[in-house]
Amino acid sequence: MEFDTIAAISTPPGEGAIAIVRLSGDEAISIADKVFRAPGSKTLSTVPSHTIHYGHLIDPSTGRTAEEVMVSLMKGPKTFTREDVVEINCHGGITAVNRVLQIVLNEGARLAEPGEFTKRAFLNGRIDLSQAEAVMDLIRAKTDKAMNVALNQVEGRLSKLIQKLRQEILETLAHVEVNIDYPEYDDVEEMTHRVLLEKSQFVQSEIDRLLRTAEQGKILREGLSTVIVGRPNVGKSSLLNALVQENKAIVTDIPGTTRDVIEEYVNVRGVPLRLVDTAGIRETEDIVERIGVERSRKVLKEADLILLVLNYSDELSQEDENLFEAVDGMDVIVIVNKTDLPPKINMERVRELAKDNRLVTTSLLEEQGIDELEEAVASLFFSGAVGAQDMTYVSNSRHIALLNQANRSITDAINGVESGVPIDIVQIDLTRTWELLGEIIGESVHESLIDQLFSQFCLGK
Ligand code: GDP
Ligand code: ZN
Repeated sequence: MEFDTIAAISTPPGEGAIAIVRLSGDEAISIADKVFRAPGSKTLSTVPSHTIHYGHLIDPSTGRTAEEVMVSLMKGPKTFTREDVVEINCHGGITAVNRVLQIVLNEGARLAEPGEFTKRAFLNGRIDLSQAEAVMDLIRAKTDKAMNVALNQVEGRLSKLIQKLRQEILETLAHVEVNIDYPEYDDVEEMTHRVLLEKSQFVQSEIDRLLRTAEQGKILREGLSTVIVGRPNVGKSSLLNALVQENKAIVTDIPGTTRDVIEEYVNVRGVPLRLVDTAGIRETEDIVERIGVERSRKVLKEADLILLVLNYSDELSQEDENLFEAVDGMDVIVIVNKTDLPPKINMERVRELAKDNRLVTTSLLEEQGIDELEEAVASLFFSGAVGAQDMTYVSNSRHIALLNQANRSITDAINGVESGVPIDIVQIDLTRTWELLGEIIGESVHESLIDQLFSQFCLGK
């Protein structure tokens, strides 16, 4: 494939120590050579690949030195895009890096569209679609664990698994072909029946397994949607502040999220908590008062985790009991706060109301019990079957949707075999499953879908 040469600033916006302008394409090296001056007048076209060079960038329009730079040269195909890649490292000021970009654009590079580098890696066969999407997740990963999930996917674990399943289906379809071609042999038919069932059930169980990881994968990717509830004055704001202070708040840069509910991210032992409606807690002290009963019910219902705060030094009220009722059946951690004050609460009743949910006591004033609370969050999240570091998680909603569809069509195939429907009908379901799995890794994907996917990427990636 042939593409023009693209360029973009590939470090995040803002003031950093260094910034990188990346060039990719057939002309990457010749464009860089027009503007790069190294000691001893060496040129990039003559130096070995995968080397880094000190020098200056000159602006050909004035002939003057523009920047002091380090230039990395990477010849295709052993590069991210499989094309020739040049990375110009310069001092991070926004004007400096923009000047560098402008210079290479003047010399014939085209400004890259968002995600275009990754798109090229995909189109040049360097990575498949699920890996390309993982690159995007990686950019947005909020904790190390979320990063690991994305990294596993970049390495192609999900792709390999999907390929294995597709291979199983192909082999099964081959058996079916034999049956269709030689229907007069009874034993072939019986074998086909058995093989079909076994293989289909295997494929289904693997799809099931992947789907079971989806919930956790999604949480690692998007954060565990968490709502703090409790009567006025029990310590909700104090809890929020404690969580934010203890744990580095996570900066989020997901573009285009216009939400009317304010969110804050914190990393609790690798679990990203998305604290929902923190403005409500901080400003009006009362989520219900601020956004109304209906809305707050909706916020509660959509939460993955409820932190229900009670006052140790006050009697349980009807309002407390109502809160328990409102969050019944959800994942709740009950926090009895203000243990530094004299006890007034009926702990026996609290335990009764908490049922099987985790219960921790805290004095946020004296910074007691916060560790236990964090422990409770982490164990709640990692108590499921999944949680191993090297687990292949599915976290991308497009993948989840496709897996669900594939699950339905493989179930149709299994039901068909079991109820003895004609084998060519089963064949259709199997083929459909094969196609749906293929879409996950980008085989048989429609062109416009590809464009849409890559346009979500950050510029310069
Ligand atoms: P909210 O209305 O639920 O958000 O409660 P706040 O976090 O604003 O706290 C209400 C009051 O209780 C504030 O004066 C806090 O300093 C105080 N407070 C919070 N946690 C504790 C605690 O553990 N012990 C004591 N003694 N006071 C606390
Ligand atoms: Zn408050």
